[in-house]
Amino acid sequence: MSSVETAPTAKSTDYGPSGTYLNYINGEWKPAKGGKTFESRNPADPADLVGTFPASDKADVDEAVAAAVAAYKTWRLVPAPKRAEILYRAGQLFIERKEDYARELTREMGKVIAEARGDIQEVIDMVFYAAGEGRRMFGQTTPSELQNKFCMSVRVPLGAVGCITPWNFPMAIPSWKIAPALVTGNTVVLKPASDTPLVATRFVETLIDAGVPKGVINLVHGSGRAVGDPMLEHPDLKLISFTGSCEVGRHVNERCAPTFKRVTLEMGGKNSTTVLEDANLDLAVDGILWGAFGTTGQRCTATSRVIVQKSVHAQLRDKLVERAKKLKLGYGLNEGVDVGPVINEPALNKIAEYVEIGKNEGAQLLLGGNKATNAGPGYFFEPTIFDNVKPTMRIAQEEIFGPVVALIPVDSFEEAIEVANGIEFGLSNAIYTKDVNKAFSAMRDLESGLTYVNAPTIGAEVHLPFGGMKNTGNGHREAAETCLDVFTEWKACFVDYSNSLQRAQIDTD
Ligand code: NAP
Repeated sequence: MSSVETAPTAKSTDYGPSGTYLNYINGEWKPAKGGKTFESRNPADPADLVGTFPASDKADVDEAVAAAVAAYKTWRLVPAPKRAEILYRAGQLFIERKEDYARELTREMGKVIAEARGDIQEVIDMVFYAAGEGRRMFGQTTPSELQNKFCMSVRVPLGAVGCITPWNFPMAIPSWKIAPALVTGNTVVLKPASDTPLVATRFVETLIDAGVPKGVINLVHGSGRAVGDPMLEHPDLKLISFTGSCEVGRHVNERCAPTFKRVTLEMGGKNSTTVLEDANLDLAVDGILWGAFGTTGQRCTATSRVIVQKSVHAQLRDKLVERAKKLKLGYGLNEGVDVGPVINEPALNKIAEYVEIGKNEGAQLLLGGNKATNAGPGYFFEPTIFDNVKPTMRIAQEEIFGPVVALIPVDSFEEAIEVANGIEFGLSNAIYTKDVNKAFSAMRDLESGLTYVNAPTIGAEVHLPFGGMKNTGNGHREAAETCLDVFTEWKACFVDYSNSLQRAQIDTD
């Protein structure tokens, strides 16, 4: 550790006027070189200015990448258990700061306070989980085909890596990427979503306070085009780890191709909950409400389709509408609020457009469907339920990312699986049934990275692989031991202690 320079402990606000936040590059808080800024505002009350942040560009990215490349030279040589000690300290700080960070998260992103606490808890879980890998990170030893020869495989870090993250889990998702990146010996440039720069700043501050050395973590605020694109094209970033929409993910993939970067993509979903006729309907309604309207439907794993067997369709529908009617919209820091605002005005308008699309397609609007004007001055949308939705309708195929759920009646279990799989995405599916045969058949046949039985489509845990099939991802898994595969290369090592030339595949007798 002595060869690594520790960054000063500092809040980013110490370096600018109150409410003005900065980039963090090479151990220093600094404004964008171009001097431009952008604002972050509270989606529940846009008059509430959360902070002003640097609108950075390529020059800032270049500086951050140079710092990460330089820091990599020493960071990769710090023993992994020592790197992990810093993460353990960070985990402890996140515990101490959980409530403050959760309240800021609700203010900046909108999710209700209980869910914001969950976001921070996921950070704590992930940081501790990744820290544990500092003393595992197992490779293999295996016999050689030759005498007096030793063979093993070890993980090695990639170098300087880029992480590009969305706003819906503004602290949890950076932690899924950055904790494993650091423990495996990489250095990081983080570009967080423009809608949640304060939460990302708090995340980085905590790593600094825990002792992450200068240059090892760098934070560059700014737009996808101005900051993201230069990262994608930068020859010295060895990986882009991206979570966001399919549209931007495709662009990321294409832009990274010329430099042969490793690219991991975690993208959209159109998740389903199937309710069979033998299900506990009240339990299913609990799960659908939480899955569809939690985080105001803005989770990649949100329940946006309910596939229900016709024999229990009317019963389920009535129970669901009755419960959804009682959900309280409002500012997520206020007592008793169930559903917060959506992230911004374009998102609000997009959801309203999808409601019109659904009505024009012939789906039956059972509940909601409007911007909610009585919940506060922000971007509120009523919990919305469509019935008699056909599997091919756009509202049953496309990611809406809002509090909208489509009921799709089907005749049989087999048809339910076919409908669940009949989309371009493959992130999360749930099924409610007491029939063990159908539960196991569903786990086998549903085309998604996550499958839940008698539980909602949301509820990932950090020690299990997280990610999607089909157009949701490109084959990688975050969290769990699989997170190590994202941030390391395998190296095979051979030690010949025979004191003679031994030729593999030739001198084997
Ligand atoms: P997004 O618009 O795709 O943005 C994601 C990130 O990409 C943001 O930091 C964004 O920056 C950046 N970006 C935009 N244009 C870029 C460009 N040209 N080059 C590089 N980066 C660029 O997604 P979002 O609205 O933040 O998040 C919602 C989406 O994320 C949904 O589709 C959701 O399903 C998905 N998601 C998936 C998972 C998963 O694990 N599968 C988890 C959470 C969310 P700006 O903010 O500056 O535009």
